[in-house]
Amino acid sequence: MQLIDGKAVSAAVKERIRAEIERDKLDIGLAVIIVGNNQASRVYVNNKKKACEVCGIKSYEYALPEETTQQELLELIDTLNKADNVNGILCQLPLPAHLDEKQVIEAISPLKDVDAFNAVNVGKIMIGDYAFLPCTPAGVMELIHSTGTDVCGKECVVIGRSNIVGKPMAMLLLHENATVTVCHSRTKDLAEVCRRADILVSAVGRADFVTADMVKDGAVVIDVGMNRNAEGKLCGDVKFDEVAPKCSYITPVPGGVGPMTIAMLMQNTLKAKRLQDE
Ligand code: NAP
Repeated sequence: MQLIDGKAVSAAVKERIRAEIERDKLDIGLAVIIVGNNQASRVYVNNKKKACEVCGIKSYEYALPEETTQQELLELIDTLNKADNVNGILCQLPLPAHLDEKQVIEAISPLKDVDAFNAVNVGKIMIGDYAFLPCTPAGVMELIHSTGTDVCGKECVVIGRSNIVGKPMAMLLLHENATVTVCHSRTKDLAEVCRRADILVSAVGRADFVTADMVKDGAVVIDVGMNRNAEGKLCGDVKFDEVAPKCSYITPVPGGVGPMTIAMLMQNTLKAKRLQDE
């Protein structure tokens, strides 16, 4: 079994981006909107700002109070859509319950939508005409590539069908000619379906969900889950100790998919600048 080092792969991606920005003397700005006091969101936003620093991208934070109205948020997005110094806009999710996430996502200009959540960009991913990469699934693909595994013709099983992870994950695997099965809470005989997988990607959000009996010998296992265990420690979906010995490659949590998501966000921000300069 070999561990896939997400931190190392992500550092290499960020270094490539930093070098390109420096070489071409690009002035790039990412606006990061955070509403309310969600602690996990604060950690993610801080990590994204740190990655911007590493890459030489300016980050502009808009920390709005919990009671921000939909109108105020939409007005800010409108201003940022028009701002020349802002190439990418991300609004950290989840938003407080009184705000309409879908409307907020659709308000971000597709040319600045570096999370690739806007329907225009989701549609482009579907037809394989990428403006922006879906960050987490694209990070997973980089990790799979880092193992030297050829996805073409492989049986791939994705557990989870969310719009931000499961569905775009399936699309990226399909674009590389995998045979893809997407599982969800209504899937029958989940363990049996998962045992078919040469590459198993879990994006469920439950600790200890993927157990050894669900994994084929020699599989590549990618754990997207970010959960807290009983002791409050960050953990993935995979019961690591019993699954790892069966795998050819496996990602740890932390230090697997998480850092890659942020690296892909940086890549999208650079792409946004290039698209806007065209
Ligand atoms: P989500 O929207 O809650 O989706 C979870 C998916 O898991 C759903 O499709 C759900 O099926 C499925 N599921 C739930 N219980 C199941 C069961 N018993 N059997 C089979 N499938 C089941 O979550 P998400 O936003 O995709 O995120 C998933 C996990 O990834 C979370 O832990 C999240 O924190 C993490 N995440 C990590 C990163 C990163 O950068 N590392 C980025 C994004 C998300 P139904 O559709 O049938 O309900």
